[in-house]
Amino acid sequence: MAENNKKPAGPEVVETTDHRVSCDGGGGALGHPKVYMEMAQDDSVQCKYCDRVFVLKK
Ligand SMILES: [Zn+2]
Repeated sequence: MAENNKKPAGPEVVETTDHRVSCDGGGGALGHPKVYMEMAQDDSVQCKYCDRVFVLKK
């Protein structure tokens, strides 16, 4: 990874208890059409629209 003085804030992490999650970007200016995502074998999934990361709460 290239070094950069401007460190971007990491993606927002959302804890969930379900392998199947939905995301609409939180609505407002940052919103996007609601999408559903499956974690499948993983315990996290990232929204391709808003880069939020959904992490399975154990
Ligand atoms: Zn999203």
